[in-house]
Amino acid sequence: MKIAVLSVQGAFIEHEKMLSLLGAESFEIRQKRDLEQEFDGLILPGGESTVMGKLLKELDLFDTLQKKIKEGLPVLGTCAGLILLAEKLSNDENVYFGTLPVTVRRNAYGRQLGSFYAEEEVKGVGKIPMAFIRAPFVESVGKDTEIIATVEGNIVGVKYHNQMGISFHPEVTDCTKIHEYFLKICQDYS
Ligand code: GLN
Repeated sequence: MKIAVLSVQGAFIEHEKMLSLLGAESFEIRQKRDLEQEFDGLILPGGESTVMGKLLKELDLFDTLQKKIKEGLPVLGTCAGLILLAEKLSNDENVYFGTLPVTVRRNAYGRQLGSFYAEEEVKGVGKIPMAFIRAPFVESVGKDTEIIATVEGNIVGVKYHNQMGISFHPEVTDCTKIHEYFLKICQDYS
C-alpha cells in the first residue's frame, strides 16, 4: 500500500514519519509528475490553506487530485487539509477541492491564541490526544456526512465516504491511531 502526502507546504514530514512507524510506504507530491504513479490514499496536511490552495493550482496538481478524490480515493485532511476539502468556508470566500459536504470556519479558535490540547473520543478510533494549532472547526455538515469527533460541542472530525477531515494534528502527537484508521480505509479501497 502506498500513500501520497501533499508536500508543497506545511506539516507533511510528520505524516510521513507516522506512516513509516506503521510500516506503510509513502511518497511526496510536489510536482505534476509525482502524480504519474499509482497510490491508495492521500494525506492533505496542516499548514496554511491559502498557500497550499494557491500552490496546488500553480503546480497544476489541483484538477488531477480533485478528480481522484471525487472518484473515491481515500483522503485524510488535517487542519488546513480539512479546509482544502470543505465545500464551503463560513469566513472565507475561497473554496478549494470542495468535495466534502461541510461548512468550515477557518481559525475558529482565534488566530494567535488558538493553540491547545484536548483528549477526546473519535468514532471508530477511540480516545486520542488532539493538538489544535490555529485550527478550524466544522460549523455544519451535509446530510450524509458523519460527525466522528467533537470537542466542547464543536465538530472537529467528520467522515464522508472516502473522505475524512479533522481539525487537529494527529501527526504531532505520538498516537498513531488516526493513521492506523486511515490505512484501514485505504486497504478497503485498494
Ligand atoms: N489557520 C490555518 C488555515 O487557515 C490552518 C492551521 C493549521 O493547519 N494548523 O489554513
